[in-house]
Amino acid sequence: MSWRNALPAVRGKLLIDEPLAPFTWLRVGGPAEVLFLPADEDDLAAFLSALRTDIPLTVLGVGSNVIVRDGGVAGVVVRLAGRAFAGVTVDGGAGAITVGAAALDSAVARAAAKAGIGGLEFLAGIPGTVGGAVTMNAGCYGAETAGAVTAVWGVDRAGARRVFQAAELGYAYRHSDTPAGLVWTGAAFHGPRADPEVLGQAIANITQRRETTQPIREKTGGSTFKNPPGDSAWRLIDAAGWRGKPYGGAMFSPLHANFLINTGEATAADLEDLGEAVRADVAAKFGVTLEWEVRRVGRKRRDDRDEPKDRA
Ligand SMILES: Cc1cc2nc3c(=O)[nH]c(=O)nc-3n(C[C@H](O)[C@H](O)[C@H](O)COP(=O)(O)OP(=O)(O)OC[C@H]3O[C@@H](n4cnc5c(N)ncnc54)[C@H](O)[C@@H]3O)c2cc1C
Repeated sequence: MSWRNALPAVRGKLLIDEPLAPFTWLRVGGPAEVLFLPADEDDLAAFLSALRTDIPLTVLGVGSNVIVRDGGVAGVVVRLAGRAFAGVTVDGGAGAITVGAAALDSAVARAAAKAGIGGLEFLAGIPGTVGGAVTMNAGCYGAETAGAVTAVWGVDRAGARRVFQAAELGYAYRHSDTPAGLVWTGAAFHGPRADPEVLGQAIANITQRRETTQPIREKTGGSTFKNPPGDSAWRLIDAAGWRGKPYGGAMFSPLHANFLINTGEATAADLEDLGEAVRADVAAKFGVTLEWEVRRVGRKRRDDRDEPKDRA
């Protein structure tokens, strides 16, 4: 019997062979063998504690930093959605803000600003969820998640609740030591007291700056590669001649040369192959190896053998 016919009972939704492209900014890629939308944290924990341990688990936020490959994702994909995971609780006096992992970064920035909590304005520039931000150590304009987050919690692959202090998460540039199979469900942030009007103005400036410097209305995954030490990925891509050059349905944006875009009909293979072609060319021309910032998940073809074996 297929493992998919013996899934643990849930209160949320289990969707079989659910296309994932609509759940990502780049709008490419195949289906999840199973997409799980938990009703709440108890539902998530009960499901994971009963799920066969050999079934792969992948977590998705709003897919603003992900290429789902064309063959789809083996095993279970968890996506947190709905009010149970998107709460934002503010204690202005203490400078503290507690949020669900599915809360949008921009909503957190605005709630903090309104309550006069500083240091979170940069989140207005990141079109992801808190789960994505604490995993990626998302940041912009000189600030990053690691500078404001104090604790993160979630449910591990065995269904146990876990809490981590930020100092335990090995934060570095666009990196955290998020344990494999850990689904973040919430986080706490802290910031200094500040004037809500000044914070609101800073958010407006960030929003406006992004409008003019990033292709935010395109199908994109944001910065494709991390900036190498002392240099910029966009500068190297531009200097190698890849800005605005079509490659199947993919291209590095004419507006921001480190933003990979789907110009309409790209496959995940177009996007990933273009990225790899650029990495090879930049390495050959400048001796710099670009490191992917965009996460690539899943299998290139549906019949690739990385899926769990069905038990007889
Ligand atoms: C137009 C545009 C502009 C961008 N600008 C910036 C920028 O300025 N700075 C920046 O840092 N990034 C930027 N990004 C990239 C992206 O928005 C961030 O990386 C964001 O933090 C990803 O959040 P997400 O919810 O979309 O996560 P996803 O893209 O869905 O996932 C990213 C990673 O986080 C993991 N993850 C997500 N949620 C959870 C969870 N609950 N538990 C465990 N793991 C989880 C996923 O497994 C995956 O490994 C930009 C993207 C776009 C499209």
